[in-house]
Amino acid sequence: MCTGRVDLAFILRSFQNRMDGVYIAGCRLDECKYITNGNYHALNMVLLGKKIMEHIGLNPERLRIEFMSSAEGSRFAETVNDFIKKVRAIGPIGKSEGLDENELKSKLNEIRKLIPYIKIVTRDKLSSRLKDPEEWNKLFGREEIETLFRELPSYYIDPEKCQACMTCAKRCPVDAILSGKNLIHIIDQEKCIKCGTCFEVCPTKFGAVTKISGEPVPPPIPEEKRTIVRKGKEK
Ligand code: SF4
Ligand code: SF4
Repeated sequence: MCTGRVDLAFILRSFQNRMDGVYIAGCRLDECKYITNGNYHALNMVLLGKKIMEHIGLNPERLRIEFMSSAEGSRFAETVNDFIKKVRAIGPIGKSEGLDENELKSKLNEIRKLIPYIKIVTRDKLSSRLKDPEEWNKLFGREEIETLFRELPSYYIDPEKCQACMTCAKRCPVDAILSGKNLIHIIDQEKCIKCGTCFEVCPTKFGAVTKISGEPVPPPIPEEKRTIVRKGKEK
């Protein structure tokens, strides 16, 4: 109903499903009939999506957003026809950019997994309200997007500090933390979406979760060393 509902995940999923282009039509900017101005959110999401597409080697012209009122049927038809013409000229997704099917799939999968992290890092810009189309292309810079992925953090639970309070495991949105009573917790790096929740919620007195950037994550401790022996229960 509202373009404010358009999420980066929907756009990437369309490309994963081998759509050659994604066209989003929203209400005119500053003519939102509610109070949400979700069309600005959709615009910012598209601007970010285009830069991410460039980053993974996809032609950003495959994604377009247009604003119009429901009375502008001819404008809708014209812009859709123009978009179809351009996308046809670009050609089939991936193939035209020199990416084979598996490469494209794995790149899109990787980005989809990182959407929560991307949204956290770019949240201020995602709430921008740029009225001047000249400004749109400058909202997200190429270097900024490169840095965003280069500085991708990983989270690691220090086995020396973890007290198995289970707070992080209960709050992890994707069940990426191997948990158990009296067991040192471990982050499954394959499942982790880098949301940083475990880092935020680990009690300060334990401070067991570390944020790591630009370095490999230490390997998890072996299974047989995960049990925590509480003081007075050594026997
Ligand atoms: S950062 Fe922590 S809470 Fe977030 S997905 Fe990864 S393990 Fe789970
Ligand atoms: S919140 Fe901290 S101390 Fe508690 S289980 Fe997680 S890492 Fe360990």
